[in-house]
Amino acid sequence: MTDERKSVTILGATGSIGTSTLDLIYRNPQAFEIVALTAHSDTDGLAAVARKCGARYAVIGDPDKYTALKAALSGSGVAVAAGSDAVAEAAAMNADWTMAAIVGCAGMMPVLAALRCGKSVALANKEALVSAGALMLDAAKASGATLLPVDSEHNAIFQCLDRSAPQGVAKIILTASGGPFRTWSAEAMATVTSAQAVKHPNWSMGAKISVDSATMMNKGLELIEAWHLFGLPSAQLDVLVHPQSVIHSMVEYVDGSVLAQLGSPDMRTPIAHTLAWPQRMETPSERLNLAQIGKLEFEEPDLQRFPSLRLARSAMEAGGACPAILNAANEIAVAAFLGDRIGFCDIAMIVERTLERYQPRAPQTVDDVLRIDGEARHVAKELLESVYA
Ligand code: NAD
Ligand code: MG
Repeated sequence: MTDERKSVTILGATGSIGTSTLDLIYRNPQAFEIVALTAHSDTDGLAAVARKCGARYAVIGDPDKYTALKAALSGSGVAVAAGSDAVAEAAAMNADWTMAAIVGCAGMMPVLAALRCGKSVALANKEALVSAGALMLDAAKASGATLLPVDSEHNAIFQCLDRSAPQGVAKIILTASGGPFRTWSAEAMATVTSAQAVKHPNWSMGAKISVDSATMMNKGLELIEAWHLFGLPSAQLDVLVHPQSVIHSMVEYVDGSVLAQLGSPDMRTPIAHTLAWPQRMETPSERLNLAQIGKLEFEEPDLQRFPSLRLARSAMEAGGACPAILNAANEIAVAAFLGDRIGFCDIAMIVERTLERYQPRAPQTVDDVLRIDGEARHVAKELLESVYA
């Protein structure tokens, strides 16, 4: 890496991705300085990391937590703010590199604010891209910002793509672990508990993405993410189940060559790729020992048992407001499942019915996306209540 310190902002600093990002930064204190850290409600967690890395600003999304954060950071020299507008203001502080690691569409306004600065934005927050992809890409284009994919699959594709010959790409193959219920029968899946669903076989992640991995909606959101990031149509975007999560994704070229990126399932590798980009940096990630792993397996995804993947592909192909509605309904349904209010198989059912019931015009502006997101949540909540009346 160069001698100059890179200024960094982390949106969602207390989460799984935020913590992995900070781990890399703590190991290279001479290379980075922290501008702002944000979190939703964990004031103690945010205060602890802000003190540890000497952040200039710490921002808590929940406005009621301002006094608690102020008290937790008294005497530290870290400036404090609260509320969702303050999170977006933190994102607009012109850091050289911003990690977008808020979960859900709640991250959309902060990501847009970071993109408008025209610097580098490392994107983990796939829901923002699913809901407002075209607007985000426009914002990046207008400001000259660089969007760096953190999601392990998209980071793998980013590494394998030959940008000098884009017409040579035949297809992108997104790999999927298949989640904890890959081999379960549909009957057994109907009885799944939230505790079972958040236990991913290969990756350690936040609760929402763990449930999305279990339903395979995560792969559906990632299809839409790839569609925006790499500009290929649905027919050139494949999903392949690969239970070992060693190959993180592949690019097939028209001459039959297939390029893949491999690595241990540790998000610090793709995060480091975006943090050091266009250079490389060392990480403590376990080195891949293929002889020890022995064999890699692959199978087609089962769209009967994992309808969320089918719903996401249909929403992508329909375009317009559908991806934003799919995402909003899924966020509501996953929260209800995590609160033990609905069953595992109800998640896809709520998403499907919301898409059937609510069909607004395609969003043109950020305000349109926010309105569609809000209305889709409302429809999904009504459906939840009618199903469980
Ligand atoms: P997490 O739940 O562990 O952390 C989420 C972070 O966002 C926390 O810091 C939380 O305080 C903050 N946050 C939540 N709601 C907020 C709100 N309304 N306003 C402001 N901040 C809010 O989640 P995670 O697993 O770190 O995932 C973050 C994002 O990265 C998700 O979009 C996820 O899909 C994506 N992602 C995660 C992984 C992974 O391995 N964890 C891998 C690929 C992509
Ligand atoms: Mg992923």
